[in-house]
Order: sequence, then structure tokens, then C-alpha cells
Amino acid sequence: MENCLFCKIAAGEIPSTKVYEDDEVLAFRDIAPQAPVHVLVIPKKHVSGWYDAQGESDAALAHLMRVAAQVAKSEGIVESGFRVVSNCGPDARQTVPHLHLHVLGGCGMSDGMA
Ligand code: 5GP
Ligand code: ZN
Repeated sequence: MENCLFCKIAAGEIPSTKVYEDDEVLAFRDIAPQAPVHVLVIPKKHVSGWYDAQGESDAALAHLMRVAAQVAKSEGIVESGFRVVSNCGPDARQTVPHLHLHVLGGCGMSDGMA
């Protein structure tokens, strides 16, 4: 989609530090990390959020989650623990309207908001 930041990152038009890539999914380091490990996992196809994602196949959505878990493994945070967060809409403070999972780890996290 035109003028979508993460579509541009997926297309390589804006540089990113990639940690995983296949035909469907890209994982790259967040530009403003909120934990020692902070990776974003996105579908390469533009999907604006979780409601929009109802139009995607179960396999595509499951693949996104599987990649998040694989990133946790490759980042070495499976044993210590990690959080997968996906903000959707204004109350959740979603700032980039292209579906993404945050994979966070490498430190203890707060008890709040799940
Ligand atoms: P949201 O607030 O929508 O859940 O998450 C968007 C995330 O994208 C934020 O954590 C923000 O730091 C990250 N971000 C914004 N612009 C860029 C960018 O140009 N490159 C990368 N790697 N991350 C970005
Ligand atoms: Zn997009």
C-alpha cells in the first residue's frame, strides 16, 4: 500500500535490520527498542490490523505467530521468557497501521496490561 511505512520496509525501500525473512513474512529490529530484544514481525502483504486480518487465511496468521516464536528462539529469549504484543487501534496506541507483532524480551517486564 502506498505511503505505508511497513510496506516500504517490506519492499526494501526503507532500510531495516532484518532478523528473519521469507516470501510472506519479515522480522526486523524496532527502531526505538523498549527492551533489550525488540523485534517486529509483519506480513509482507498490507493488512491494517487484526480485524482486517479476518480476510487472511488461517495458515498465514498461524505462520506469523510461528515466526514470532522462532525469532524468540533465535534471539535467545525462550528460556528467560518473552512477550508477544500486537497493538490494534487508537486505545491500544497502534501507531503504524500495518499488522505487526512486537517480540519483546531480555529483561523482566511489568505486571500491567497483561
Ligand atoms: P505500534 O505503536 O504501532 O504498536 O508499533 C510501531 C512500532 O514501529 C514502534 O515500536 C516504533 O518504534 C516502530 N517503528 C516506527 N518507525 C520505524 C522505522 O522506521 N523502522 C523500524 N525498524 N521501526 C519503526
Ligand atoms: Zn502496509
